[in-house]
Amino acid sequence: MKNSKVSIQFLGATQTVTGSKHLLKTPELNILVDCGLFQGIKSLRLKNREDLPVNVKEIDVVIITHAHLDHCGYIPVLVKNGFKGQFLMTPPTRDLVEIILRDSAKIQEEDARKATDEGYTKHTPAKPLYTEDDVEKALNQFEIRHDEIWVHLSENISFQFLKNGHILGSAFIEMKCFGKKIVFSGDIGRKNSDLLAPPTIIEDADYLIMESTYGDRLHPENNPIDDLEETILSTIEKGGNLVIPSFAVGRAQEIMYLVNQLKEQKRIPNIPVYLDSPMGADATEIFLNHPNWHKLSSQETYLVSKHITIIRDFHDTFKVLKTKESKIIIAASGMLTGGRVLTYLKEYGPLHDNTILLVGYQGEGTRGRALKEGLKEVKLHGKYVDIFAEIKNIDSMSGHADQKEMLDWIKAFRKNPKKIFLVHGEPQAQDVFRVKIQDEIGSEVIIPELNQEFILD
Ligand SMILES: [Zn+2]
Repeated sequence: MKNSKVSIQFLGATQTVTGSKHLLKTPELNILVDCGLFQGIKSLRLKNREDLPVNVKEIDVVIITHAHLDHCGYIPVLVKNGFKGQFLMTPPTRDLVEIILRDSAKIQEEDARKATDEGYTKHTPAKPLYTEDDVEKALNQFEIRHDEIWVHLSENISFQFLKNGHILGSAFIEMKCFGKKIVFSGDIGRKNSDLLAPPTIIEDADYLIMESTYGDRLHPENNPIDDLEETILSTIEKGGNLVIPSFAVGRAQEIMYLVNQLKEQKRIPNIPVYLDSPMGADATEIFLNHPNWHKLSSQETYLVSKHITIIRDFHDTFKVLKTKESKIIIAASGMLTGGRVLTYLKEYGPLHDNTILLVGYQGEGTRGRALKEGLKEVKLHGKYVDIFAEIKNIDSMSGHADQKEMLDWIKAFRKNPKKIFLVHGEPQAQDVFRVKIQDEIGSEVIIPELNQEFILD
């Protein structure tokens, strides 16, 4: 009988939430699902510089679930290291990945310059992980595939993208591979998003490779718009400013939509709102260009960008800082690991009247996590800064399904998966979720370690 051995090796997002890379090895093709960057604490970031335990030239094709850096940010490195195949992704993902990678290259180049200037590097000059030129080269290998259409990859392998409600363009990958059904969840979205359709219900899977970010938590059932209203009003009452660190892609657009809804319904006064991110501005346009990928009608779509001043040039950040009236500022990055939000944190963080609103997952080792846990000082551009601003957190705005939503999604399968591999979660969340799945669903659950490989028999 012909060889039909299929195995999967986990090259990232093992017991952590970044660096998603899952390599499916088959007799016909070697397929990499997601090509993400490690982020957060230094020991993780250093992994981006290590060689993969596989020969990159032996990877035939890469499929990307969505445009967050921890799922696509390693693409230029793969190309630099000799990957010649295609990167397959949905149309909005393709557009978003392009701006995310260009931005990421700029940050890598700036960091390398800073390291050289300030002398904290072993290499002189310091080498960026990749440059804008590397991104440009990688773009030539991008190919779009629409959702709900089976893509034939080889004689015994085909897959389809199915919307999963996490960010614009994000999708599950449902794969038929040598008679087995393998499903990759990517990051799973929420059932009741204002902007995106709920995650697609999958019929069945033999193997499920599943995220577990909130495996140990339930999001509050509050309506996010009410929580946001309350935060905006209390900040205005104090006469302060509201800073919302946010991924510029997806999440920023959702916040803008909610803020504008509050304004239209006259639930908040008409104070200035700034999106300080050139990338966020481009992401907003992409939102408008893909109407089939979100729930908003054409009349509602205008609420994404109405009443918002977009700051592209970083000189204008300082003009915003000079204005005295209460305002709302949305700026990246979402976990305060870098980007323009740090300028606002430095200026507004030390003052009591301001509010910093955390709306997404705050990974280990990030400033966002430190603030969420109540730390009153953070290190910014080499100096410690006291934080007296009020730190608020709206979990109801999360872009990730919580424990119950994830369990409900699996329970809707007509047949339980034979094996579930948990990825993209911190150890505590994964362990709680593993027990829950075993108790309520009964599937075998595996929590892989970095570079571990499993035969799918
Ligand atoms: Zn994501």
